[in-house]
Amino acid sequence: MQIAARMSMLGTESAFEVLARAKGLEAKGQSIINLGIGQPDFATPPHIVEAGRKALADGHHGYTPANGIPELREAVAADMELRRGVKIDPAQVVCVPGGKVTMAFAMLMFGEAGAEIMYPDPGFPIYASVVKFSGATPVPYPLYETNGFSFSAEEVLAKITPRTRLLIVNSPANPTGGVVPKSELDKLVAGLEKHPQVVVMSDEIYARMVYGNAPHASLLPYESIRDRLILLDGWSKTYAMTGWRLGWGVWPGPLAEMATRLSINVHSCVNAATQWAGVAALNGPQDSVDGMMKAFAERRTVIVEALNRLPGFRCVMPGGAFYAFPNIAGTGFTARALQDRLLDEAGVATIAGTSFGEQGEGYIRFSYANSTDNIREAVKRIGAWLEKSRP
Ligand code: PLP
Repeated sequence: MQIAARMSMLGTESAFEVLARAKGLEAKGQSIINLGIGQPDFATPPHIVEAGRKALADGHHGYTPANGIPELREAVAADMELRRGVKIDPAQVVCVPGGKVTMAFAMLMFGEAGAEIMYPDPGFPIYASVVKFSGATPVPYPLYETNGFSFSAEEVLAKITPRTRLLIVNSPANPTGGVVPKSELDKLVAGLEKHPQVVVMSDEIYARMVYGNAPHASLLPYESIRDRLILLDGWSKTYAMTGWRLGWGVWPGPLAEMATRLSINVHSCVNAATQWAGVAALNGPQDSVDGMMKAFAERRTVIVEALNRLPGFRCVMPGGAFYAFPNIAGTGFTARALQDRLLDEAGVATIAGTSFGEQGEGYIRFSYANSTDNIREAVKRIGAWLEKSRP
């Protein structure tokens, strides 16, 4: 058997490995509080589940158009107008099985040997993984705790070369919860005018998960880059639908056709019933999203205050998503050692910052998609464990 060399370039997402280890320990009778995996702990709202069930009962059992049923793409276009204030053509929308697919398609479309693709570090691990798989050179740009894990547009722009084809931006961000302010996006877009060959993929999967009063700053409203912006969003986080597998990309016209061709070659279309559930999610009542965000806002305060009381921990208040990313350098443990020992010895699942890039050393990620009782108990366990443990 001769496996293609590019297979050795493919990375992984540690959250799934930690989840498997946590489940294994639970099966052996150990109590584990899972603050590792990044998915809402809420159920999909009942009207969305009902729409999926009805679609099956109504006989939606066949293939659909590869880019998604018209009702779904129209619902996405209406949502973009309502929330981003931008009128788009439903023909630009390509619905795919999860946000990850838009990401992979963008990288496969632009990545090849000799090309450079830029992405945040620490950042979603699939960025670096698929960039390498595509044959392109990965060019990470650093995010710092000192500015709330936003980025410096100047620093990002300085890394652009004539070989840069794609720039990935993610706000609110995984794993840090960092939010890029509009003023920084303004600077980035102004600078990009000097680099017309650079396509931007803006991963806005956490767009509805921003705390405080400032609205989410999206890259979609910027006209000067509209013809080279790929917007990634989806249902997974906003509507607690991670297992349904549904996401959307808004692509510039010619790229939408290419993304659709990739869909036809890879998965044909998204499961038909899931698409009808997606229509109900976007067109139906939004109170479940508001309720979920209220719960997340409370948990954010609980976890950040509790983590800041732990010896050796220091945690900035994240502006969005449902992650806290404390600096743990003061504990003396490396990120990976702390992740492993907290899971095995304290019964708390977290993810080492190094799973998200080199800049993640000295940090671990907590997903606070769990009850406040469990969050308090998890931090208590960590505190007790730190008292008796040495690196
Ligand atoms: N983008 C980011 C930044 C994420 O954190 C995730 C999931 O964790 C995704 C995209 C992918 O979402 P989906 O489950 O819809 O593929």
